Amino acid sequence: MPMKPTQLAPHLHQVLFGFVNAYAVTTPEDDWVLVDTGLKTNFASLQNLDTHFGRPPLAIVLTHGHFDHAGNAGELASRWGVKIYVHHLERPFLTGQSMYPPSDPTVGGPLAQMTRVIPNALFNLTGQLETLPEDGILPPLPAWKLIETPGHTPGHISLWNEDERILIAGDALATADFDSYLGMATKKQKLSLGGSPFTPDWEAARASVHKLADLEAVVVAAGHGKLMSGADLPQQMRDFAHTFTPPQQGRYVENPARFSEKGVTFLPPKPQDNFGRNAAKIAGAAAVVMLGAKLISRRKAD
Ligand SMILES: [Zn+2]
Ligand SMILES: [Zn+2]
Repeated sequence: MPMKPTQLAPHLHQVLFGFVNAYAVTTPEDDWVLVDTGLKTNFASLQNLDTHFGRPPLAIVLTHGHFDHAGNAGELASRWGVKIYVHHLERPFLTGQSMYPPSDPTVGGPLAQMTRVIPNALFNLTGQLETLPEDGILPPLPAWKLIETPGHTPGHISLWNEDERILIAGDALATADFDSYLGMATKKQKLSLGGSPFTPDWEAARASVHKLADLEAVVVAAGHGKLMSGADLPQQMRDFAHTFTPPQQGRYVENPARFSEKGVTFLPPKPQDNFGRNAAKIAGAAAVVMLGAKLISRRKAD
């Protein structure tokens, strides 16, 4: 069953909620922009948003190009005749020029185990992409500022509404802990690392979290996890930034991947992966794979 959009704030609607979130940002003129497009299997939940909002969106914006955020960007942009705005450093991953750095199952936790069965999708959106303006203001969304938040990906962006103090953070952070089995199962609200197994530069990710904490947002809508809001959120964000701790181990923890306008230019060596040596880990991983299969089949059904 396609999900119904939920209004979260006067100009913010949640249009996808589950493994990954997507948002619609509306303007005072009742126009709207789609921010992120979910997994391929979420298409049914997104295709009729033009009916819900009474018109097609003015544009699609991607916080970044990972498979769970760009999954339907091409199809929806064609359907609605709109452009897909991305940061210029994200372009090579969306034109087939470069693959993202391989995900890292050795950071630990359920999401890391799931990456063993999630194929690294490659999209080719050549001809549909528009580069974000240098001044960070998207013409269709003058009330929102686009903020560069690299680390999770080199061209990752977040969206910030200064007047309403609303932050759309993509995977610069998460509002549930997907590195913990309990966190992933319950999606209990907690400021957490965004997509650890997919993050190839932890120092940049840390700097981006500090940048976001400085905004003093009272509403944080992330790519994964439930919305967080409240007067104490600025303090929670500051605490999260000051105690920011990358995973204890992992391919990119000490040695980040490097990038240029053309994509990946350096990858640290593949780490030793002890998967298979430890029976408890195998049992845990099997449970996660089953959960992953369940998630994927549920997505297929919607
Ligand atoms: Zn991501
Ligand atoms: Zn994501």
